Amino acid sequence: MPLGVAAITERAPVIAYLGLGANLGEPAQQVREAVSRLNNADEVEVTRVSSFYRNPPLGPQDQPWYVNAVARVRTRLGPEELLRLLQQIETAMGRERGERWGPRLIDLDLLLYNGEVIFTPDLVVPHPEMHHRVFVLAPLAEIASRAWHPLLHKSAGDLLAELDAADRAALEPLARSELRAESSKQFKSFLSNR
Ligand code: AMP
Repeated sequence: MPLGVAAITERAPVIAYLGLGANLGEPAQQVREAVSRLNNADEVEVTRVSSFYRNPPLGPQDQPWYVNAVARVRTRLGPEELLRLLQQIETAMGRERGERWGPRLIDLDLLLYNGEVIFTPDLVVPHPEMHHRVFVLAPLAEIASRAWHPLLHKSAGDLLAELDAADRAALEPLARSELRAESSKQFKSFLSNR
């Protein structure tokens, strides 16, 4: 293909932020696996991953605590394509659609995409719950405190500061020692390459 045509048809890479969470099986391991699957996908590069946070479940309380994290990716995928990739990874990792807020092997959300506001039947960006969830805002602010919410016109750091102190206190960063104790070679090499 002549160079000029390739330049027109190829989409420029953009930055997106993804929320990752799990509370069944070995949650930290599953979040790591999801990061690795994202990074191995065509047209997606994971450029930052937050610490992992342990946090109490939303909704039914008779389920294990969650491990949550946020990843920053550079991608040439459009927002709907990126959502489809997240859903493919969820399915490949054994997630079945169950009760709302029920336990899950992996949950992947598209939080922010290139500063855009998107409303389609399948996709709402910014993610409609992100601004009041401490388990999203704390890891997001950790890696990108100036990430901008294009509807609320506030940064991730500002939105986190507005949450109740009690909400913020409920979140526990997972100690590095706990992470190292787990046996994912894949993620160890991922961490050491950061
Ligand atoms: P959940 O059970 O939280 O994984 O919700 C999945 C449903 O939310 C799917 O039907 C998606 O099409 C829809 N959805 C809408 N906006 C988003 C978003 N920003 N990120 C992930 N899923 C979304």
